[in-house]
Amino acid sequence: MARKFFVGGNFKMNGTKESINSIVKGLNEAQLDSNVEVVIAPPALYLQLARDELTKAGVEVAAQNVYDKPNGAYTGEISVSQLKDLGVPWAILGHSERRTLLQETDEVVASKTKFAVDGGVAVIWCCGESLGEREAGRTVEVVERQLAALAAKLAAADWSKIVVAYEPIWAIGTGKVATVQQAQEVHEAIRKWLRANVGDGVADDTRILYGGSVNGKNCKDLAKEKDIDGFLVGGASLKPEFVDIINSNL
Ligand code: PGA
Repeated sequence: MARKFFVGGNFKMNGTKESINSIVKGLNEAQLDSNVEVVIAPPALYLQLARDELTKAGVEVAAQNVYDKPNGAYTGEISVSQLKDLGVPWAILGHSERRTLLQETDEVVASKTKFAVDGGVAVIWCCGESLGEREAGRTVEVVERQLAALAAKLAAADWSKIVVAYEPIWAIGTGKVATVQQAQEVHEAIRKWLRANVGDGVADDTRILYGGSVNGKNCKDLAKEKDIDGFLVGGASLKPEFVDIINSNL
């Protein structure tokens, strides 16, 4: 099965009603490559607004987080069934900002991912190493540890609901994009790990996105690599160049 190119926009804790409306309007009116699956992740407060205003075929919305418990006494959290209720088909989980600032462990991320998938919400699952880990030559080891925690929770069939995003922490929001070789090397290692530990089908079919300072200029070269199946975009997803990133292959 050919892997459909996938571009996610992670707005993080940014935006207002006005700015999110204008981003959505821009996407509705843009010429987008129809061979690309697009998912935007506004802050939870604006999910419904984005959902309601999006008219563009092939563009969906994602939450930036979701909890691994059914509705109940969990102040401040959002449930999978609430995402379903709002018509939100995706969630981002395991973003490094949540792993580091909110202390989400590999196991917590894996548990949330399993809970989301079981509840019918597909997941953009993020992994990636810190600068110190890269400099110590531990990049692949770290990513494999994160993958192993996830694979321990998922059944083989669950992987069809997972998109992997490789996001080196040192490249996020820094303007310091990984080189094409650095990114391809880790993507290849992730696919190899999936082949050895989950199976050929999952290794062949799982989209592996690159994230970390992707912009309208560097996206084209990255998109040419054989194991780079799309992007998870932060800062540039708030700007008109997000359309150029979606259209990287045109
Ligand atoms: P950035 O963020 O594109 O602003 O580097 C990427 C991400 O955190 O997903």
